[in-house]
Amino acid sequence: MPSDAKQIIIIGGGIVGISTAYYLLQHPQYDSKKDFVIVIEAGHLGESASGKAGGFLASWATPKCLAPLSFKLHAELAKDLGGDKWGYRRVHAAEIKLKIELEEPDINVSGKAPKNLDWLLPGSIEDYTEVGTPVDSAQAHPKLLLQSMASAVISGGASIILNTSVSRINYDDTGSVVKSVTVTGDAAETIVPATHILVAAGPWTPKLIPSIHLLAPKGHSVVFNPSRDLSSHVLFPVIETEGGGEIEADIYPRPKDSLNGFETAYSSGPDYYDSLLPSSVETVEVESVKCDEVITAISGVSQQLREGGVIARQACYKAQIRKHEEGEEVGPIVGPMEDVKGLWVATGFDEWGIQNAPGAGLVTSQMIIEGKAWSADVDSLHPRHYVAR
Ligand SMILES: Cc1cc2nc3c(=O)[nH]c(=O)nc-3n(C[C@H](O)[C@H](O)[C@H](O)COP(=O)(O)OP(=O)(O)OC[C@H]3O[C@@H](n4cnc5c(N)ncnc54)[C@H](O)[C@@H]3O)c2cc1C
Repeated sequence: MPSDAKQIIIIGGGIVGISTAYYLLQHPQYDSKKDFVIVIEAGHLGESASGKAGGFLASWATPKCLAPLSFKLHAELAKDLGGDKWGYRRVHAAEIKLKIELEEPDINVSGKAPKNLDWLLPGSIEDYTEVGTPVDSAQAHPKLLLQSMASAVISGGASIILNTSVSRINYDDTGSVVKSVTVTGDAAETIVPATHILVAAGPWTPKLIPSIHLLAPKGHSVVFNPSRDLSSHVLFPVIETEGGGEIEADIYPRPKDSLNGFETAYSSGPDYYDSLLPSSVETVEVESVKCDEVITAISGVSQQLREGGVIARQACYKAQIRKHEEGEEVGPIVGPMEDVKGLWVATGFDEWGIQNAPGAGLVTSQMIIEGKAWSADVDSLHPRHYVAR
């Protein structure tokens, strides 16, 4: 093997790991004759948050240093790889206040909601504020996006090893240069040599880099089979329930896709912090009562969603640096680990990981191959701002 060959191991086959692999293979200085990229994923593709998210994309997302670049890259990916495969489309997005209505009055109470939002019970709409338009907002089916990018990564010559967990990163005798990873799959432990390692293990990242601390809120989501086609809005409702409480349950109508063969609508409920992160993505438990909360709230505001029924109930954990206000910039963490040669990290993407993954993947590929990111100034995301000392 030539002495300058790059043996790049990416730990984690979520959207961030796969995006980084994609842009590494595209980098002009990546030489497929001597370099290689291996993505090692503990579960199957799409079992983590990267397969269970809503898939809302916006150029106005946080952080400002990454979001516009990443939004632009999503449009390029849709053009280059065929965005129809993952339901890429531009959308209107709105914050909306809804009230569960059991009767169906024939007036639009807020008067502000667009007419094609006729799949919400008109009497349920108390307030409507547009936050995104097709110029700056879009959506993607995260699991199908992940699968399409993974196919491109494999066609580009990289390997994706599934059902295999990295148990340890190994360093040289000084502890300051990466040497290999120890993996556990169906067979016994194996050592895979590496010159460059990216840890993109989402909320599990601290297991491999303990100096990084993360919260891991759990989110539940459901997928409906609407009784008729819905308009292409992404909605962020606060729904007042019958008991006088409130629940936040986002709604994302999705175009017909190859998984189901018909249009669907995704809805996710609030974050819960009282559930410990399981040892692996394979053992994430779906709590039916949390899904039922979402189903009850959504069924109370849309006849089309109530009638169509639920086709999936799911749960996942996301990596969060700390709790924060909406719109406040907190991470993600993207960059080299100081004091260790050959080790990078990309985690803490919180509620914007699908949106920000292509941008993060591109700048990380530049850091790994050229030593510096130049498509965006991401110094504010450097691990030194977040690592516990
Ligand atoms: C309910 C919900 C809705 C969301 N909606 C949106 C949205 O609309 N738009 C948006 O932009 N974002 C959204 N997000 C956020 C988004 O899902 C995440 O930010 C994103 O998926 C993070 O991707 P990731 O690759 O960093 O992590 P993950 O998807 O968690 O992937 C990490 C992977 O690493 C693997 N792994 C972990 N440890 C190891 C190991 N030791 N060895 C090998 N593999 C390992 C895991 O199995 C996992 O597959 C949402 C999140 C939730 C929870």
